[in-house]
Amino acid sequence: MHDLVLHGCRLPDRDAPADVAIAAGRIVSVGDGAGPARETLDAGGRLVTPGLVEAHIHLDKALLAGRVATSAGTLEEAIRVTGAAKRGFTREDIAERARRVLDLAVAAGTTAMRAHVEVDPIVGLTGLQAMLALKREYAPAVDLQLCAFAQEGILQSPGTEGLLRQALRAGADLVGGCPYNDTDGRRHIEIVFALAREFGVDADFHVDFFDEADHLHVLEIVRQTVQNGWQGRVALGHLTELAALPAAEQDAIAAQLAAARIGVISLPATDLYLMGRRDEANVRRGLTPIRRLLAAGVPVALATNNVRNPFTPVGTADLAHLTFLAAVAAHMGTPELMRELVACVTTHAARILGLADHGLAPGCRADLVVWECERPEEIVMSLPARRWIVKGGRITIEHERRVVQRWREGRG
Ligand SMILES: [Zn+2]
Repeated sequence: MHDLVLHGCRLPDRDAPADVAIAAGRIVSVGDGAGPARETLDAGGRLVTPGLVEAHIHLDKALLAGRVATSAGTLEEAIRVTGAAKRGFTREDIAERARRVLDLAVAAGTTAMRAHVEVDPIVGLTGLQAMLALKREYAPAVDLQLCAFAQEGILQSPGTEGLLRQALRAGADLVGGCPYNDTDGRRHIEIVFALAREFGVDADFHVDFFDEADHLHVLEIVRQTVQNGWQGRVALGHLTELAALPAAEQDAIAAQLAAARIGVISLPATDLYLMGRRDEANVRRGLTPIRRLLAAGVPVALATNNVRNPFTPVGTADLAHLTFLAAVAAHMGTPELMRELVACVTTHAARILGLADHGLAPGCRADLVVWECERPEEIVMSLPARRWIVKGGRITIEHERRVVQRWREGRG
């Protein structure tokens, strides 16, 4: 007896509809005739994908629109005004804003998420304490990884290294660096790797977040990844500087990233908004070269980063929107490339987060999205509604839509 059977699912890699059988939180079989179950839902030929994976989001500084004012729209201004707002953050305030974003993400089909939590002398461990409680509260709906993140720098913000250590002791899942916002990028990267080794955790860097290739801290991170034997345990967010290099140099770095099994997380809403601010004609797109990285075998995720704050004034926490954005911004409009974009919010993102049992094969965690469409590329093309979200074998969200065309009935 199965716990749940989804009957008549259209799967990305097969033509005929299939039944997905689930027991004890995992997929048991995928094929025809699943047998008896406590609950059976008729997917009616709808597309089923693995759960969406949000690889990079800031819940603690989300939804600040209306509280802070910006005028320049630059990265420097965003860091400055958000740092000032952070002085007023309380645990309750952080939790209230984070909960609103988590609810949006869960309803959209996100079943795993990596959240960067700022840990520094301004906010201390307040954000982490708020997020640890939310991690427990939301466990039935989403697996939340918490990254202790040094947004204000480490060397230029004395006390941060000790706070990061405290955060990792208190339950943070990994450590996050920000070498672009510090006085010595190489030393900053060394401290992050030392903490990663001390606690045996992954490392995630906000890196090379400028229009010109003036920093290329990526090269130092690759070197230290290999030196520390941390292959497959490092992720890089932004990496927009890569786009400024000639194609052959991009390919050379992409090959190094692939060899070190480093994942790249593109944050298109933020990067399109903040990059190219000094350009007055032919304004740059400011995205890391997603297609080149994918072609080199680098796992690439598309992620939300910020939701309605000075870094990104818009946001829905629905990863489908980012595939839509990247299709036009990164020139990925063929059905094959659009399917790759769906992989950027599912399988690639899961690989970067180290989620080994994510997918649609028997034995995988039953984290699933049932979409109001038939083919994966339609997710990118038309942002379809979702019908059901399954987390750990249980239906967590059921969407019902009702549209009445009153004008057709002559009673509008
Ligand atoms: Zn970020």
